Amino acid sequence: MYLLVLAVSFSIIALFIYNAIYNSLHELYGELAGTITFILYFIPIVMLLIKELPYLKCNEGFDEKINDLQYTVCKTSFYNAWYNASEKRFYISELFYRVLSRDEIYAVMLHENGHTRIKKWLNISRGIVTITWYFVAITIAVFIMLLLRGNDNILMIIGLIGFILPFTPAVTTAAMVTSWIVEHEADLNALKGAGYKAIASSLLKLHVYGSIEGYSQYVEEIRLNLKELEAPSKITLIHVLKTLFKYSWNVPLHYFDFIRRPLYYTHPPLEFRIYKLFNEWKHVEREKGNGSTRPGEAFNDHG
Ligand SMILES: [Zn+2]
Repeated sequence: MYLLVLAVSFSIIALFIYNAIYNSLHELYGELAGTITFILYFIPIVMLLIKELPYLKCNEGFDEKINDLQYTVCKTSFYNAWYNASEKRFYISELFYRVLSRDEIYAVMLHENGHTRIKKWLNISRGIVTITWYFVAITIAVFIMLLLRGNDNILMIIGLIGFILPFTPAVTTAAMVTSWIVEHEADLNALKGAGYKAIASSLLKLHVYGSIEGYSQYVEEIRLNLKELEAPSKITLIHVLKTLFKYSWNVPLHYFDFIRRPLYYTHPPLEFRIYKLFNEWKHVEREKGNGSTRPGEAFNDHG
């Protein structure tokens, strides 16, 4: 309910700003104002759609099954796994599939499966906040661009920027928080079914291989120091807040970056995910009173 009120009020403000953009453009460009506003608004939307396209339709692939989970291995040029809600089907890119062990594939599929089990209200909130975020962020980014170009009233510019700058980061933070909670929940689902080692190492691989995307043909095998996962560095609340703050400033200050990557950070950083999984795993081990798992033991099997 709180989120709904938040979303509605943000949308209303976004609408006001949209109107302001249109008006200020109207003074400068007259009849063309509508078209220009429209184009500025929809460049990032088009970019977003282009980016999402491979996730909506898999042109070439083959079906696989692991334990009770059916999935499709899809030929793509990136490393990822995803759930297609309209087809009710799990996907993994072939590149990612090739670098994972069986246990890791299972963990990845359980993460995706976790997305289908996440509490409805949490998913709905995430959706609402994301859409709101998008419109608020783009409105403000475009508005600042226009202000800086076409207005010579310095006081007005300072006043508006003073109002706007703290506003987008606040909405971005709300969007990131809901999104990151959903991802952590999905990670925990994988932890429960596949164990700490499998999910943690698959996340690490996704990160490492994902960052060399496009150059993977030069790489035969990356040797990861999985032992390091046994003692992930501590993530404090201050660390989380700092990261959220840093990430929240991408828009509107970097409108062009926004065009290139038109979404906020939808996933928590790798070290946050590992740290959360590690703690949960330790907690579960303690609950079980299982003294037999010495540190390191869970990493020695290569099955
Ligand atoms: Zn996910």
